[in-house]
Amino acid sequence: MPSGFSELKSRIIDTGLCTRCGGCAASCPVDAISFTSRGMELTGECIECGICLEICPGKGMDLSFHERRLFGRSRKKPQGGPIGIHRSRMDLTASEREVFIKGYYGGRVSALLIHLLEKDEIDAALLTDWSGTEELSVGRGVVARSREDVLRSASSKYVFSPVLSLLKEIYGDESIRSAALVGLPCHIHAFRNMELHPGTEHLVKKVAYVISLNCGGANLDEEHWKALVEKLTGVNGEDIASFRSRKVSGTGLRFTVTRKGGGVVEKEMPLRTYLAEIDRSGIWERCRMCPDYSGELSDITFGMPVMRTPRGEEAVLCAVKEGALMRSSFKRRTSQRVIDMVMSRRKKWRAKRTMARREKEGKRVPRFS
Ligand SMILES: Cc1cc2nc3c(=O)[nH]c(=O)nc-3n(C[C@H](O)[C@H](O)[C@H](O)COP(=O)(O)OP(=O)(O)OC[C@H]3O[C@@H](n4cnc5c(N)ncnc54)[C@H](O)[C@@H]3O)c2cc1C
Ligand code: SF4
Ligand code: SF4
Ligand code: SF4
Repeated sequence: MPSGFSELKSRIIDTGLCTRCGGCAASCPVDAISFTSRGMELTGECIECGICLEICPGKGMDLSFHERRLFGRSRKKPQGGPIGIHRSRMDLTASEREVFIKGYYGGRVSALLIHLLEKDEIDAALLTDWSGTEELSVGRGVVARSREDVLRSASSKYVFSPVLSLLKEIYGDESIRSAALVGLPCHIHAFRNMELHPGTEHLVKKVAYVISLNCGGANLDEEHWKALVEKLTGVNGEDIASFRSRKVSGTGLRFTVTRKGGGVVEKEMPLRTYLAEIDRSGIWERCRMCPDYSGELSDITFGMPVMRTPRGEEAVLCAVKEGALMRSSFKRRTSQRVIDMVMSRRKKWRAKRTMARREKEGKRVPRFS
């Protein structure tokens, strides 16, 4: 039965199941949903078509169904494993120093996007930036059309991003024929739902490459986010103008905080300290119920690049052949492989445990199969 925004609000937003992916804002045929500092809100007149709830990944995902559709088999079969169905894996870094340095961990995503843009395989990439948002704990979607744009949005932002809302923008832009989407696993879930919905299938047609980042589930609300940055860097949450994080080794992180009144504070720490602090800081409950660490429905996933579809594999191999990406060291390769396996299993286990607890408390949970 079609239902309106009130159903999306009562079932997903008010129950803490929203991942702030932006999919509903893109999908609404009358542009009635906007992303605000309070999350997704009804800002126009709802015609009760029900599309927003139908494509919403907050309610869970039939991963097996989409795997059969995308890869011709289900992850329960031998090829799957904790990181999902894939054709090949190969740890890589950007070959160019500038891209390597601007990226979070080797600039692989940025190098691949620049390669695709320069070869005219895509006209744009849908990315996430930090600056310019009202809240620092939320990312801002960016349509990148050039190498400079890609580098400006490089590096991970450990925040939600309504990047899918850009799908409507590129749909109406005749200068964009083909694009790449970079998102977290929950973005990819919404995107895959949109591919199948008659009300949204037109919005996803231009996306030729669906690229996921691994996601250990490290998102916080604004208050917790500011408190965490303050604890880790000593900079008062209200005094932060911008924030940047970068992995400086297999296990080490560097934060760069720019203060509102000027001045930069840099701090390095082990990744595990950061993750333990995030865990203690109150990760968004929806992330604790998310079993997909490695973007199991993408064309390509980064951490260690995992190529899932022939198209994704071809793009990466071409970038390697033409020198945009190069093989990383044995040490780095091994540590990333272990991290991916451990984190993937841990996330599935955490999701099961959190959902069981919530069910006991009579709370709504997302459904994954
Ligand atoms: C919330 C979050 C949690 C993560 N958890 C893990 C983890 O547990 N283990 C692990 O191995 N890797 C994790 N990653 C991925 C990892 O941090 C790197 O993004 C990935 O390895 C690619 O690095 P790179 O240098 O190749 O990418 P870069 O060249 O730096 O490019 C990164 C791209 O990601 C986009 N991006 C950044 N933040 C977001 C966001 N919040 N939403 C959507 N797109 C975004 C940027 O626009 C940029 O294009 C996480 C990333 C995020 C954002
Ligand atoms: S589609 Fe995405 S942003 Fe909208 S309610 Fe669902 S999870 Fe939240
Ligand atoms: S997508 Fe449909 S149901 Fe949802 S807010 Fe828009 S008009 Fe209402
Ligand atoms: S843990 Fe899952 S829901 Fe949370 S941001 Fe990551 S992919 Fe999205």
